[in-house]
Amino acid sequence: MDKLIITAALTGGIHGKEANPALPEQPDEIIREALRCYEAGAAVVHLHARDGAGKGVADARIFAEMNQGIRARCDIIIQNTTGGPGLPINERITSLDAGPEMASLNMGSVVFFHQGKELPFINLRLEIEAFAKAMLERGIKPEMEVYNPSMFGEIENLIKQGLLAAPYYINFVMGVGGMGGYPGTLKNLAIMIDHLPRGSVFNVSGIGRAQLPMNTMAVLSGGHARTGLEDCVNYRKGEPAKSNAQLVERIVRLARELGREVATAGEARAILGMKR
Ligand code: ZN
Repeated sequence: MDKLIITAALTGGIHGKEANPALPEQPDEIIREALRCYEAGAAVVHLHARDGAGKGVADARIFAEMNQGIRARCDIIIQNTTGGPGLPINERITSLDAGPEMASLNMGSVVFFHQGKELPFINLRLEIEAFAKAMLERGIKPEMEVYNPSMFGEIENLIKQGLLAAPYYINFVMGVGGMGGYPGTLKNLAIMIDHLPRGSVFNVSGIGRAQLPMNTMAVLSGGHARTGLEDCVNYRKGEPAKSNAQLVERIVRLARELGREVATAGEARAILGMKR
């Protein structure tokens, strides 16, 4: 097995400090938290931008500020989101203007259920192709977010259109509570692995209580692991996480106990075929 790439998803675009006050929202908090996660063993940091009031936005200037601040302090791989439910697609693509090494690429549509409301998150095929093309042209590695097995059809489409460079980096987002979500179980994880196109590297996120079991199964199955307060605000049931770094530290400990070494940012670039 390759060394384990740990991604820290610090903030997200849906819940904020009301869910956990440790969730970083402003650029200075996010930069500090990225550095702490890097020091704890994360090789990749996944970023969302928030405005001054903490609301999710797609603002190229905020992404640039965060990207520059992190880059000045460490060599962690910066992955800007191109997601964000409720944000217009033409705004979501501006996170690429900050020049990240990597960006998320959502491979289909889901509806999140959040605080009694339905949050549609629509990604049409033509939009996915436009994102992939923009990333390919700029040399940005896509991390493809796959929420259920039907979305592998969109990866096949991108491969057929010549819009992806191997190795394909695919993140399984397991346990989304909403339409199009796929429960985070061992059997479902095995089904997702079964669908991987040849030449793929996979990463596993689990939402809410699926986070820890999905991360652990990823460590054992040769995948990589994404943790952080975007995906789960608790360390364990009834106990809020103190920080993103605390969650990263747990995965590092688990991986070491299970005999899997943790990749540095440089080693992660080599695994993913990225040049800095
Ligand atoms: Zn995200």
